[in-house]
Amino acid sequence: MKLLLKGGRVIDPSRGVNRVSDILIDRGRIAEIGRNIPHKGERVIDVKGKIVSPGLIDMHVHLREPGNEEAETIETGTRAAARGGFVLLACMPNTNPTIDNQDTVAFIHSMTKKKGAARVLPIGSITKGLEGKELAEMGELKGSGVVAVSDDGGVIHNCDIMRHALEYAKMLELLVISHCEDETLNIDGVMNEGYWATSLGLAGTPTASEEIAVARNIRLLELSGGALHIAHLSCAGSVSLVREAKKRGINVTCETAPHYFTLTDEAIKEYNTNTKVKPPLRGKKDVEAIKEGLSDGTIDVIATDHAPHTPEEKEVEYELAPFGMIGLETALPLILGLTREGVLDLNEALAKITNNPARILNLDGGTLKVGSTADITVIDLEEKVIVKKDSFQSKSRNSPFIGWELQGMAVLTICGGKITSMSDQVKNKLCGRTK
Ligand SMILES: [Zn+2]
Repeated sequence: MKLLLKGGRVIDPSRGVNRVSDILIDRGRIAEIGRNIPHKGERVIDVKGKIVSPGLIDMHVHLREPGNEEAETIETGTRAAARGGFVLLACMPNTNPTIDNQDTVAFIHSMTKKKGAARVLPIGSITKGLEGKELAEMGELKGSGVVAVSDDGGVIHNCDIMRHALEYAKMLELLVISHCEDETLNIDGVMNEGYWATSLGLAGTPTASEEIAVARNIRLLELSGGALHIAHLSCAGSVSLVREAKKRGINVTCETAPHYFTLTDEAIKEYNTNTKVKPPLRGKKDVEAIKEGLSDGTIDVIATDHAPHTPEEKEVEYELAPFGMIGLETALPLILGLTREGVLDLNEALAKITNNPARILNLDGGTLKVGSTADITVIDLEEKVIVKKDSFQSKSRNSPFIGWELQGMAVLTICGGKITSMSDQVKNKLCGRTK
């Protein structure tokens, strides 16, 4: 089936393109890009005044299937992704069973094929059962198609195991993604250590917990070689460490998540458990440093760390609630907020959710090059939405942004040439009605 997107502003950071063009999609691929492509009976969608971006990529999500289908499934998680403008997700291995074997990888592939509204690329675990003790069969995992390995959720505390993981992954040309928090320093911490933790009477986690793990992993990477990607940076010290390592030519990349540049630890003052994340929300200075890191290119990627939890799990005392918030359906407007603030321009912002994660994961994606898979996200920069508890596609509702008015939404998501999400605005236009 052919589809013609008419008159949008095409921004493709992978090729430095920013101009008004039509895009013709044919048999799941981008067939042609140019001004005034004549239409010959194919379906036409008018996207004038909209941004046409390569399909968005989120390299850090938790889809909970297998094991906790109460909170999310591959079907609902990918639907949430499509609604949020994402076409490609890399999912973390902390499922039950863990993604530490080829059968679980095969299960995720087959569920995605059956029910997925986005492509899902599994990330295998570094250690068996995420226990931090014995390395998983990385060769087998690589063979079955994982895009990286990670023990996300916690750090591998044993330096020797982490060193061997990096060496082994290097041999297999696998990316290692590391959650950096030395928990021997914050075993009871539930929020950032500082004024708000003291005034709320909650146990704090110092930023040093993260910085120590970042510094150690960069040092181990120097020893081993290979490639390391540091997940969800939250504080100024980590940004400085990565910036300095990159200056020295070390092969390290990193990401942050929208909540780390949008919220501070003050957001916890109502004890809303949806603000409880790992690493925790930090103070103002850290938020400023994260923005600086995004702006100067130290932080390569923005990923959601979408972490669904059921109301039963979250509606408990702050100390007892699990860590994590959902993010797929609120990420794009929060990222676009950075362009309105002047932290990033539109090209830079989109690069962090298209081209950069594609490059780091070595994927054939994140581009609108002619001949590539037709993964496209159409964005309305003006569209405003009030986030409502009942409007999520995700099975979970653990978002601290409920009640917020957000601006800049995906109005059309196309994955492999297929429409996976379309807003009412676009639907009405297609039927010839006006808003
Ligand atoms: Zn993590």
